[in-house]
Amino acid sequence: MSATIATSFGKEEVVSFNPATGQEVGRVHQASEREVKEAVARAREAQKEWSKLPFRVRGKYIMRAREVLLAQMDETARLICDEMGKPVAEALSADIAPVLDLMQYFARKSERLLRPEKLGVGLYGWLGRSSKIIYTPVGVVGIISPWNFPLSIPLGEVTMALMAGNTVVLKPSEVTAMVGLKIGEIFEKAGLPENVLGVVSGGGSVGAALVTSGVDKIMFTGSVATGKKIAAVAAESLTPVVLELGGKDPMIVCRDADLEMAARAAVWGAFTNSGQACSSVERVYVHNSIAQEFTRRVVEKTMELTQNYGSDADTEVASMSSERQLKIVEDHVEDFKKAGAEILTGGARNNVFPDGVFFEPTVIGGATNEMRGMREETFGPTMPIAVFVDESDAVRLANDTEFGLTASVWTKDIARGRTLAAQIRAGTVMVNEVLYTHGIGQTPWGGFGHSGYGRTHGRLGLMELVAPQHIHVNRFTIFADMWWFNYNADTVELFRGLARRFATGSLFQTAMLLPQFLKRIREMRRKP
Ligand code: NAD
Repeated sequence: MSATIATSFGKEEVVSFNPATGQEVGRVHQASEREVKEAVARAREAQKEWSKLPFRVRGKYIMRAREVLLAQMDETARLICDEMGKPVAEALSADIAPVLDLMQYFARKSERLLRPEKLGVGLYGWLGRSSKIIYTPVGVVGIISPWNFPLSIPLGEVTMALMAGNTVVLKPSEVTAMVGLKIGEIFEKAGLPENVLGVVSGGGSVGAALVTSGVDKIMFTGSVATGKKIAAVAAESLTPVVLELGGKDPMIVCRDADLEMAARAAVWGAFTNSGQACSSVERVYVHNSIAQEFTRRVVEKTMELTQNYGSDADTEVASMSSERQLKIVEDHVEDFKKAGAEILTGGARNNVFPDGVFFEPTVIGGATNEMRGMREETFGPTMPIAVFVDESDAVRLANDTEFGLTASVWTKDIARGRTLAAQIRAGTVMVNEVLYTHGIGQTPWGGFGHSGYGRTHGRLGLMELVAPQHIHVNRFTIFADMWWFNYNADTVELFRGLARRFATGSLFQTAMLLPQFLKRIREMRRKP
């Protein structure tokens, strides 16, 4: 069971289930379209005061919320684990720790990251002109988030949006509705002024209502299919959207890679979160000279993984999030078999847990790019391995996808690693690392192609949450501009000169126009 939308006493509710046990975790009222609109209207009102607060004060609220989360760390980890099935170890390492880090970073650094910037204006500076960019909040930000990192994704985006001076309406995934509510509670306990953050619970229809509610920006993280729908609807009102979508992330293991590290990284990168990370290792390309040994190590390590309920401290792979997700994995594995690939370990539902949604960590040998599981996002615990003969082949295979979220290159030669990384079409390419940079709040996150557009995290992510405003000042107001009216044969000649000399950007060239400038100034002073 995963979340369902149930009708009780004439009101719709989201009922959330533990995917490992099938037991109910909690239920929450599903917001109506009107309630979504009202939440946005309240957030808009609250934004007027919130945006006036100095960064230091906004940062204090964030740091207080951080303290509240820290004090509730274990119960929050347990809730994450109950609601979406991941091991409690990963709720701590991949949801809670990274977002605590992000919160302290943006609470302390947003002011500096959004400092007004003076722009060089070239020769216009000699005419007494100057330009500055100031970064103003966009207004009300609508955040629509997925279930796979149910705390760190929405809470990270809420933090950044608030620090930039916006207010927020958050629509968490219905699969992890209780974690979504927890985010609201944390800020409430931190004393955040009313309506600065609103949480509206519910399924896709509530998300759709948020997109048309008049928010000033949508930050969406989720599937390609939903991202496309949101982009199309948002286009009608020209609401800007950031889309963080799926991935089919390749890992390239070069001939000179540290085999042991690469094998361990592949196993973690493919199976952490039961493979339900947008930046999971979804395809491995290994040099043919080391393929056999690499695969042997990967299979051995995979067979040693402990699969159990996420609540156990030593569980490494727990349940998946939903039956729907498991069915996709089953489909892809079946297709691999039919297409001639070999299941080296795993390959089926784990029936030791009859009430849960568990799939065995699965390693697949002999994969090729034509197979479905190498093209479509699996989002489950599978690791298909293919071989390559030379590096240009590896780059071609890695780029043979409509996605482009992250990728990794494994080699002891860092310089070659960087060169290969630059040839791969993905938002983040790691050398001798996999998956984890969403956990670094300072670095940008986002994809190419069907992995979406726009960025979250880092300065680039903060820039998505502000409107850059250009302020231009003229200090020489005693003269009218020489390009204003009126025109005559002399001005046309002057403008020819501007095109030939001023437009070179050279002060020396421009100085040659001085007699014409002076003539023009005298003429314009005579004719007001
Ligand atoms: P999803 O698209 O099914 O749902 C995401 C969110 O959108 C949910 O809150 C859902 O209720 C809402 N939604 C559904 N229909 C909507 C509509 N018509 N209008 C507005 N909102 C709507 O995705 P999911 O299953 O929750 O998440 C898994 C997907 O997310 C995977 O494809 C994964 O790769 C991707 N993902 C991407 C990133 C990233 O940073 N690029 C991070 C995590 C997950």
